[in-house]
Amino acid sequence: MKSKPANKIQDLQFFGEFGGVNPSISDSSTYTFLSANSMSETFEGNMQGCYLYSRNSSPSNLYLEEACAAMEETEAANVFSSGMSAITSTILQLCKSDDHIISSRTVYGGTYAFLKNFTPQLGIKTSFVDITSLNEIKKSIKSNTKIIYCEVSSNPLLEIADLELISKIAKKNNIKLIVDNTFTPLSVTPAKYGADIVIHSLTKFINGTSDTIAGVVCSDKEFIHSLRDINDGAFMLLGATMDSLRAASVLKNMRTLHIRIKKHSENALYLAKSFEKDGIKTAYPGLESHPSHKVFSRIMNNDFGFGGMLTIDVGSLDNANKLMEKMQKRNLGYLAVSLGFYKTLFCAPGSSTSSEISENEQEKMGLSEGLIRFSIGLDQDISRTYRGIKECLTELNLP
Ligand code: PLP
Repeated sequence: MKSKPANKIQDLQFFGEFGGVNPSISDSSTYTFLSANSMSETFEGNMQGCYLYSRNSSPSNLYLEEACAAMEETEAANVFSSGMSAITSTILQLCKSDDHIISSRTVYGGTYAFLKNFTPQLGIKTSFVDITSLNEIKKSIKSNTKIIYCEVSSNPLLEIADLELISKIAKKNNIKLIVDNTFTPLSVTPAKYGADIVIHSLTKFINGTSDTIAGVVCSDKEFIHSLRDINDGAFMLLGATMDSLRAASVLKNMRTLHIRIKKHSENALYLAKSFEKDGIKTAYPGLESHPSHKVFSRIMNNDFGFGGMLTIDVGSLDNANKLMEKMQKRNLGYLAVSLGFYKTLFCAPGSSTSSEISENEQEKMGLSEGLIRFSIGLDQDISRTYRGIKECLTELNLP
């Protein structure tokens, strides 16, 4: 039987130098060489297993990279100091002046701003499309299109990209498919469906303790080596290196990701079903009413559910703000951006994490101001949490 993604993380063995059950943390920015010759060979990239300087690579970062590549079923991976640096370095590695990108119109606000405002200054243009419309994707392809960019489950609208069909379109036209899997680690393995590059903000579910900003790019060896090239590699030259201490800490947290994701998914499904029953406008890919429920069901790894992210729409920003303040006062969660924490986190994305997108464009894509994005926590008793949220809604006469 084919090994499953969580097994692949757990089957890795990294011992410390004294037999420790965790690998030792590399605490050096630079490394000595016994001969001058081996230093110059390492510079030329010929010396496997030799370290030179920790901006290039460190043993701790390599351990985390191996675990990320194992999880995403790719040949290799490269960790970064943030999810954004993983995204921007990947795009800059692949696109030069006069190139064209097709991106889902609902992506994380920072990614959207990079494609909308930053890359055009370098002569790289982006067409934003409804990623659930294969026709729109096909129609947007030009002779200079280099990338199709999407999130498996989009931030914040939870639109699902049909990776199986989109990757066929990409391959046929010799375009790279880049997939941000931050919302759905373990639940979906995009490389299985032909994604060329899989990116995570490790800051979120994978680390899970909201104490670190970090990112990773998972792909084939050729692309990872190109990012690290000392002459024209975007990772190497932009210098967005992860610190070794942080890499060691993320790796330790990653080993319990499978348990956490199952619980996030179980709790989110319970709340989504309960909210929907109460007549609250709810979006969650695990609900049969979700327009892409079937697509998600087809591409998911069944053991891990539909993920921990859901949205509800309470009609206005004022309602959303009042509800979030009430829920926080009752300790049902925190009014905070980010996701993947043990505690439920909520925010109104239109005025926070997606505020880079103009009001006009938010309206076009269906991002209403009363939308609340929830990252559902690891609550032991989710029915108690539901009752608490229900009381808050009732006090505000909602829905
Ligand atoms: N991708 C998604 C889907 C995100 O939600 C975020 C951040 O919220 C990022 C990327 C950026 O990651 P980071 O904040 O680690 O730079």
